[in-house]
Amino acid sequence: MSAEVPHYLREGFLTFEELKESLGELPGEERLRQKPVAVPECPQEIPCTPCKEVCPVDAISMPNPNDRPKVDYDGCIGCSLCVQVCPGLAFFMVHYRGDRARVTMPYELLPVPKRGDEVVLLSRTGEEVGRGNVVLVIPKEKSLGDTAVITVEMPIELAWEVRAVKVPRDGETNSDSDADVNADAGAEGGDGIGAD
Ligand code: SF4
Ligand code: SF4
Repeated sequence: MSAEVPHYLREGFLTFEELKESLGELPGEERLRQKPVAVPECPQEIPCTPCKEVCPVDAISMPNPNDRPKVDYDGCIGCSLCVQVCPGLAFFMVHYRGDRARVTMPYELLPVPKRGDEVVLLSRTGEEVGRGNVVLVIPKEKSLGDTAVITVEMPIELAWEVRAVKVPRDGETNSDSDADVNADAGAEGGDGIGAD
C-alpha cells in the first residue's frame, strides 16, 4: 500500500505547523532581530542542491543531495543568495525590526514592484491578509538565479504567514508611507547582495 500523500502535496501549500515539523527548529527571536536569517520551506527529499552550493559561508547543510536543507541560523549572514537561486522558490529570509518584520521572497510575476511600493500581502493559502511595503528589490538581471527577489515589511504577526504578495491595481495603492520606507530601506540595503 502506498504511503499517505502529505497535506502540502495534496493542497499545494505548506502550513506553519508543517514548516515547523519539517525544520525541527525555527530561528529564535534573538536571532531574528539581529539580521535577516534564511529559512528553507523545502519539506520534500529531492535531489537538489543549488542552495547549499551557493551559500558563501557554508551555512546550509545537506549531507546527501536528497536530504532537506538545514540552515545554521547563527552562521547565516542573510545574503539572500539561496533565495535567489532556489528553483523551487522555497527559500525565504525573515528579519524582525521592532513591531515589524521584513520577509525576503522570490517574485516571478510582472510587474516587479519597486522599492517603496505598497503591496497586498498574501497568506500561505493565497488569501489577502493586509498591506506591506517593499523595502528592497533585487531585479532579475542582478539575481544569481532566474527570479527577482523582494523584501517586504509587514506587521510582525504576519512574518510566518505571508509568503507572497501581489501588486495592487491602479488606484489601489496608498503611498503615504513611501518616504519612511525609502529612508529605512537605505539602512537595510547592506544586507542584500546584488541589491539595487
Ligand atoms: S542567506 Fe546567504 S548565508 Fe544565509 S543560508 Fe542563504 S546563502 Fe547562506
Ligand atoms: S535549492 Fe530550493 S528546492 Fe533545491 S534543495 Fe534547496 S531549498 Fe530545496
